Amino acid sequence: MAEKCRLLLSCEHGGNQIPPPYRRLFGQARLALESHRGWDPGALDLAQYLAKQLDTPLFSATVSRLLVELNRSLGHPALFSRYTSDLTRSEKEHLLKHYYFPHRNRIEDAVNDYIAQGQQVIHVGVHTFTPILDGQRRDADLGLLYDPRRARELTFCRAWQKHIAVQAPPLRVRRNYPYRGAADGLTTYLRRRFPPDAYLGIELEVNQAWAAGPAMNRRSIQRLLAATLAAVLTGASGSSL
Ligand SMILES: [Zn+2]
Repeated sequence: MAEKCRLLLSCEHGGNQIPPPYRRLFGQARLALESHRGWDPGALDLAQYLAKQLDTPLFSATVSRLLVELNRSLGHPALFSRYTSDLTRSEKEHLLKHYYFPHRNRIEDAVNDYIAQGQQVIHVGVHTFTPILDGQRRDADLGLLYDPRRARELTFCRAWQKHIAVQAPPLRVRRNYPYRGAADGLTTYLRRRFPPDAYLGIELEVNQAWAAGPAMNRRSIQRLLAATLAAVLTGASGSSL
């Protein structure tokens, strides 16, 4: 069993940039780009804060998910958006080569290296979600996504949820909400490559009312998540997680 835990952070939806050669495709898409459909507002700020506080590597990307969706597998229908799905095969390959693979490969290589050094990797993908989707209010402040078939991921998320409940009892923390951790995504891809005792793939989902809300909300959720993640990692190093 791996002796040491190594935290690794990623942020797939950190920005809504469209590189100049592709801007012609997004002439009518300004509102979509600025909305949650184009990126995860507040996610990169939070990820950078966590990386600094916990002194851990962060792999982030700032091109819009509407250009190419870094959190979907090759062949997934949502890999390209309505703005890019009509591109030619070679244009799509260009997008994959310049934006998709560099981000995903850097993370996969880092996980590989840490595991080769005998470390257990805890990968936390930092995301945010819109408080209201299609008129429905989302019923959570924080979501912790994992694969329920991976016992260590479940244990880790339960412990994190417990720490949050102690430090901030009113916060609504839900597991595998608003999405299922086992659905298609980067962590799901990496789980297929690395064994469950060596790789834990967790996605943190933060309500944008906090992550991209008033400065006071942003700061308090950042501090809370840094403190509780540090606490759960300290516990994880000393246990058989
Ligand atoms: Zn996201």
